[in-house]
Amino acid sequence: MPTILVVEDEQPVCDLVRVYLEKESFAVEVAMNGREALEKVTHNKYDLILLDIMLPEVDGWAICKEVRKNSSTPIIMLTAKSEEFDRVLGLELGADDYISKPFSPREMVARVKAVLRRTQGADNAHREVLSFPQLVLDKAANRVEVAGQEVQLTPREFDLLWFLASRPERVFTREQLLEAVWGYSYLGDARTVDTHVRRLREKLRPAGVSYIKTVWGKGYKFEVSKD
Ligand code: CA
Repeated sequence: MPTILVVEDEQPVCDLVRVYLEKESFAVEVAMNGREALEKVTHNKYDLILLDIMLPEVDGWAICKEVRKNSSTPIIMLTAKSEEFDRVLGLELGADDYISKPFSPREMVARVKAVLRRTQGADNAHREVLSFPQLVLDKAANRVEVAGQEVQLTPREFDLLWFLASRPERVFTREQLLEAVWGYSYLGDARTVDTHVRRLREKLRPAGVSYIKTVWGKGYKFEVSKD
């Protein structure tokens, strides 16, 4: 049973989320302030975290950053309209998706399932491995090795890298990548792709090979060649 950590300081929202998630056979744990949330993520393993931004003690941004230091647990941020959610910052910090409050519980459940599908679908797939000089991608294990060292990617970064790496030399526009990796329903723009490519390049840097090439005026492609 997948376990979801709900980090939210408003009791009614917690209750609503819990009821709907439990109805879908998820196990739910709740943290009502930032400190409690950090405590829980340090000592337990969750399949997904629903993370409110405005929290007492430690806010959602700080928690997201902390979680990403050593885990790729999917994170969906809960944002209030009045808070002017900075989506780009959210992606920079490694959030996988976000939901604005007030949200319909059914939409929330659908988003949770979609993110889990994206991040756990690999479990049932055949073991697929892509190997390049200084870079190994293991889809089933969601594992990436750069120059012999494991590197932590967020699920979305992994999906993007896998998509490109399994189709080397093909050029994809940002829109095509958004559609393929984020899906039709995602209200993203080109900067979303650029942000992820930038982060991936940073993480792949130890390989000494620049795998993701910018094709000016078009988009990106995966290529294996020395600079
Ligand atoms: Ca709040």
